[in-house]
Amino acid sequence: MLRRLLPPSAVLLWLAAAYAHPLDSQIRSVQQIAPGVFTRIGDRDARQPANTGWIEFKDYVVVIEANTPWGMRDILPEIRKTTSKPIRYVFDTHYHWDHTQGNSVMADEGVTVVCSQDCASELAAKGKAEWDQMSKNADYSLAPYRLQQPSVVFGDFMALDDGERRLELRRVGPAHTIGDAVAFLPKEGILFTGDLCVNWRSGNNVSDPDADHRHWVQVLNDLARGNVKTVVPGHGALGTAATLRAQSAFLDDLWTQVAGGKKAGKSLAQLLKDVDLSRHGDFAADAQQNQSAIRAVFRKAPDPR
Ligand SMILES: [Zn+2]
Repeated sequence: MLRRLLPPSAVLLWLAAAYAHPLDSQIRSVQQIAPGVFTRIGDRDARQPANTGWIEFKDYVVVIEANTPWGMRDILPEIRKTTSKPIRYVFDTHYHWDHTQGNSVMADEGVTVVCSQDCASELAAKGKAEWDQMSKNADYSLAPYRLQQPSVVFGDFMALDDGERRLELRRVGPAHTIGDAVAFLPKEGILFTGDLCVNWRSGNNVSDPDADHRHWVQVLNDLARGNVKTVVPGHGALGTAATLRAQSAFLDDLWTQVAGGKKAGKSLAQLLKDVDLSRHGDFAADAQQNQSAIRAVFRKAPDPR
């Protein structure tokens, strides 16, 4: 019936749209996932790939992830559409550029930047290197912005609690980075994981020089055992505790195959050919990311004796 109504090219376009990955339709869309709790899925093509969340308290708003400066400039009006309360804090889950470079935009709005002590230390060193490297990008210039350090840091734990709403910030690294921390709403069972967990087809970055892949697996398994109903990953679609377990299984298998192969005397070149992650579906969908993941784990894995 479609053929009679539409030219063949239109049918093809329609088919492509129908079978596009469901995430495509969610990009940049703002969703209320519980009363006063919002998420906005990142947009990789616009260099603002990280998901951002915001949580309304009685008198103020807390933002999760500072995103990129241009990302934050797009997100602030979205936040204002949902609440007239002032934004008081922004929490960075870890130091990577796509989660912290919007810090100065937030600070200029009078917002206090919060992260773990180790995240702050990493931002000052490795984050500075990322900033300097990315300053050379003409399309997305960082010149109007500055590398803004957090002004509130915590060791292992802090909570924001106004009697109605409670938000817990818990440092769980070293995993994806040293200072990884998660944000958890215990009453709602909503967990913001940063890049400890992603839920898209573009892979996860396991190449941070200080990543601890073994501990990362354990952290995800521990988190999955908690009272988690909704997972807001660092990138990609919302998930559940099952998403945490699937990300953990991918990392565990990656380590087992690469470190096991290295121990058995296989070369990196051999492992780049042999390692098979195909059973992990979306987590292993990006062949290039898989290759860099294999390289990163190979560097970290113990040498054969
Ligand atoms: Zn990251």
